[in-house]
Amino acid sequence: MNPNAPVRVRYAPSPTGYLHVGGVRTLLFNYLYARKHGGTLILRIEDTDQARSTPEHERMLLGDVVELGIEAEESPGKGGPHAPYRQSERLPIYGRYVQQLLDSGKAYHCFCPAEMIAEKREAALKLGRTPVYDGTCAHLPQELVSRRLSAGEKAGIRFRAPNRSYLLEDAVRGQVEFKAGTVGDFLITRSPQPHEKEIGTGIGMPVYNFCCVIDDALMGMTHVIRGEDHLSNTARQLMLYEAFGFKLPVFAHTAMVLGSDRQKLSKRNGDSAARDYLEQGYLKEALLNFLTFLGWNPKLEQKESLKPRSGHAEILFMDELIAAFDLTGLQKAPAVFDLDKLKWMNAQYMKLLPAETIASRARPFFEKCDLPEVREGLKGVSEEWFVRMVDLLRVDHGLLSDLPLASKVFFNDEPELSVEARLAVVEGNSVPVVTALKNAIESAAEPVTQEAFEAIQKQIGTQLNVKGKALFIPIRVALTGQVHGPEMKKAVPLLGKSRALSRIRAVEKQLHAV
Ligand code: GLU
Repeated sequence: MNPNAPVRVRYAPSPTGYLHVGGVRTLLFNYLYARKHGGTLILRIEDTDQARSTPEHERMLLGDVVELGIEAEESPGKGGPHAPYRQSERLPIYGRYVQQLLDSGKAYHCFCPAEMIAEKREAALKLGRTPVYDGTCAHLPQELVSRRLSAGEKAGIRFRAPNRSYLLEDAVRGQVEFKAGTVGDFLITRSPQPHEKEIGTGIGMPVYNFCCVIDDALMGMTHVIRGEDHLSNTARQLMLYEAFGFKLPVFAHTAMVLGSDRQKLSKRNGDSAARDYLEQGYLKEALLNFLTFLGWNPKLEQKESLKPRSGHAEILFMDELIAAFDLTGLQKAPAVFDLDKLKWMNAQYMKLLPAETIASRARPFFEKCDLPEVREGLKGVSEEWFVRMVDLLRVDHGLLSDLPLASKVFFNDEPELSVEARLAVVEGNSVPVVTALKNAIESAAEPVTQEAFEAIQKQIGTQLNVKGKALFIPIRVALTGQVHGPEMKKAVPLLGKSRALSRIRAVEKQLHAV
């Protein structure tokens, strides 16, 4: 590969389900690498396995990519110089390349039924041998092949795998050797199925390993960054690159992600759709930041020069991730998906992002929450008020989805005194604080600003000779009926004088009732 060629990388999902976190990580690594080097990210849909791929899955998957805010320069939707970017629309291209291999004798028709291959495979595995194709159809005379095909017999096409070892210089794993004899002649197209298109006369659907090489080469990929689970495919792909005389890209096989139980990530131990995390109230910024650090870390010397705006070494905003990212930071050892770390990171992002951003991301959670008083209460408030409320609540909450419940405190002006709150006031002999607060608010000028309320708190403290918790807890109880909750100096300006008063009066009444 020419080291000066502009970087071209790709994310090539098969649309067989939602976009999973492992997929997001692969997408991200490619995205960061492209952005870092001013390159191009290609999004290619690998849908030749028509039994598993659906347009609905493709729609969801592309939708998820957009929702995460990751944009590819070339894609099925956007098009580009190498369109189409959906493999099912590229079948004639594959057909031509299959024919080329057939014509040069590098591939041949194979009539072996799939069941027979499966049986032979089983038998080899039982004997502890690597199952490789036994060559039944490798040397059939051409007239026999033609006769069988004209008689309507269906055949897959096998690539004649050279019997030699292959070396790969992987950007993550270093030198990887694929030993001779471990890869037998492999299918590049399946036997034509009645319900499927033929990509050439008598040529069935091409398989992943074949389409991937043709596309990566024709689309000019300079780097192939993908999961280590594809390493065994790479042996076959190297053979195809060689057979066509295509230039090799740089391969970078990233370490797998393990679940919290150190097993391969699965639905049970933490692998879920990216969409699930967003729906649970995680911020995409936190999710992307977290996933980048799964199997990647800045190199030591980079770490020293990094000055993250967040003040924390692992909390990097997207521009900082782009600046810091490089293939050399990809680790060989598997990474463990640590949900607690994601939660922690999300809580940091809840505080770090602009209040307006948090408010707009939180809005759908308020709209669909199961709290009628909150939904009702929000109808009468301005956007500015909503942003200020979210800004106040977000500092104490780790997820967007926590905010509607936390906001309940703003929507009930006759709060019920909790048992804990009553106890705190009674045991602390704090009834005078409540009374003093009522008097002070009664005579306060409108609007009650944060500064005005701070002055009131201070004055009550001096007057009654109380400070710290002994002052703030009864004040919160007086205004909310609760011991825990947001900072009152910020909440009161949002409530306003008359709502604050009606709350204090309601609480006072309950305090006096036995
Ligand atoms: N379609 C393959 C997958 O979804 C892509 C593998 C590759 O990146 O080459 O796993």
